[in-house]
Amino acid sequence: MIRKVLISDFDGTMTQSDFYQLAIEFLLPAETPDYWADYRAGRITHFEALRRYFAAIRATDEEVLAVVRKMNLDSGLAAAVRNLRQAGWQVVVASAGCDWYIRRLLADAGVSVEVHSNPGHLQAGQGLQMVMPTGSPYVSATLGINKTAIVQHFLADGATVAFAGDGFPDADPARLVPQDLRFARGDLAQLLEAEGLTFHRFEAWCDIAQVLLQRSS
Ligand SMILES: [Mg+2]
Repeated sequence: MIRKVLISDFDGTMTQSDFYQLAIEFLLPAETPDYWADYRAGRITHFEALRRYFAAIRATDEEVLAVVRKMNLDSGLAAAVRNLRQAGWQVVVASAGCDWYIRRLLADAGVSVEVHSNPGHLQAGQGLQMVMPTGSPYVSATLGINKTAIVQHFLADGATVAFAGDGFPDADPARLVPQDLRFARGDLAQLLEAEGLTFHRFEAWCDIAQVLLQRSS
């Protein structure tokens, strides 16, 4: 049987907001340096920028969890994943963020899917400690989890592969999939548009499921 796989980014794709942006707004001391600018200027990696922000968090577990909930996971996610599964689509989360909040949000929503992300844990006085994945076949020195390698793995397997994302690290994997299976919003949409590449624009994750379900019927 030919498999159909939707590989999805998490922050800003399954959720409306990125954890690191909310962390800057609500959890970080005002004097925290602009690590995102350092990343965009090529001075530090994407992984290092997120790692520094997360480690700079100085808040109680309850305060951090309240911010995780502010990410606003798509309320229709569980139903959409179920419908996709019935139509033969497997959903795989591929995130250069941290699996600590991803697994928590998915579990709270009753969603059970394969997750590839960077491990981490909250540590009193040291924020969210994110580390490079170990034991994963999909590792990038600059991103931690390597989404491109995940897409390549399923393509090599002969699967039909869709990809959805919203950020700069999503550009390489998005270019690898067919245009009618490419979903983008935010920075990724802008970037693909500038390259003249075709994609489906989405607002909420459920929109992606809708397009794929119509396609399979
Ligand atoms: Mg994202």
